[in-house]
Amino acid sequence: VSKRGGKMRCSWFREEFDRNLEALRDMDDELRSALLNEEFRVLYQPLVDAKSRRVVSVEALLRWVRPDGKLIGPDVFIPIAEESGLINSIGLWVLRVACGDALAWGNIKLSVNISAAQLRNPEFPIQLGNIIEETGFPAERLELEITETCLVLDPVVAERSLDIIRGFGVSVALDDFGTGYASIGFLRQFRFQKLKLDRSLVVDSAGDESSRAMMLSSISMARALKMDVTAEGVETQAQADLVRSAGCDQIQGWLYFRPMPPEEIEQHLLLPASPFECERDTYGKKIA
Ligand code: C2E
Ligand code: MG
Ligand code: MG
Ligand code: MG
Repeated sequence: VSKRGGKMRCSWFREEFDRNLEALRDMDDELRSALLNEEFRVLYQPLVDAKSRRVVSVEALLRWVRPDGKLIGPDVFIPIAEESGLINSIGLWVLRVACGDALAWGNIKLSVNISAAQLRNPEFPIQLGNIIEETGFPAERLELEITETCLVLDPVVAERSLDIIRGFGVSVALDDFGTGYASIGFLRQFRFQKLKLDRSLVVDSAGDESSRAMMLSSISMARALKMDVTAEGVETQAQADLVRSAGCDQIQGWLYFRPMPPEEIEQHLLLPASPFECERDTYGKKIA
């Protein structure tokens, strides 16, 4: 009985595996045509200065709007695009669109997420340089957000590419800090201009003494290395008060802004943001 059961399980796994593989391939084909058919959209989430609550930068966040109207988030399709290498073309497309959009937004900065596969591509710095030149976007206003996996996978190429990129005047931020293993040595080696404290650290700090200690020590370490600190995923006034008193320089989160389409950005650049502890949809409007 057990032998038969084992065999059945085995073939079940096999079928499941084939199905998954097929689904992945389908998704990859769809992504390819999504790029051709312009189904991607770049939304922008404003970040505010912790003290003045004025918008100091925006982060470009990719969305896929399928022909059936379904909105798909990057956590779903970016890993697939990374697997197939399609992330290289998608990533360049995002950079080109975002630099074009952000030209109109005065002096605020623009942050763009870059995945490990992009940074591993030795052509990437040249391609980035071309986009900066073509769009005329000031390199000093551009910031790339990378995660530590970018650097662990291929530290030699990464370091060389980051040197070239910084040579353009572009700054580099370490994203999702507090979720992985990034060490002080690591932060020094790669000379980030900014540390983005992951949402999980922010959320836990509100209730948990050890998370708060970790946040405070991350901030003082960033200070010592002359890095700016942004708190990610701030949803409540209590969290905003906490990260502000801990010394964060910028605040990003739904308390102030949701990601929104480019045409809505300009209206938020004039006045300090008002906190809004309420559910809003991705287009910044209140849900009933
Ligand atoms: P990330 O770079 O850490 O971006 C922050 C994520 O937190 C975004 O999710 C944002 O919408 C979300 N967020 C912002 N404020 C809050 C908040 O107050 N509460 C909560 N719960 N979430 C908040 P999103 O847009 O789904 O993006 C997920 C991840 O996908 C990003 O994480 C980034 O790693 C990746 N990604 C997004 N766009 C791109 C892109 O153009 N290229 C690449 N390579 N990766 C991208
Ligand atoms: Mg990011
Ligand atoms: Mg992050
Ligand atoms: Mg993330």
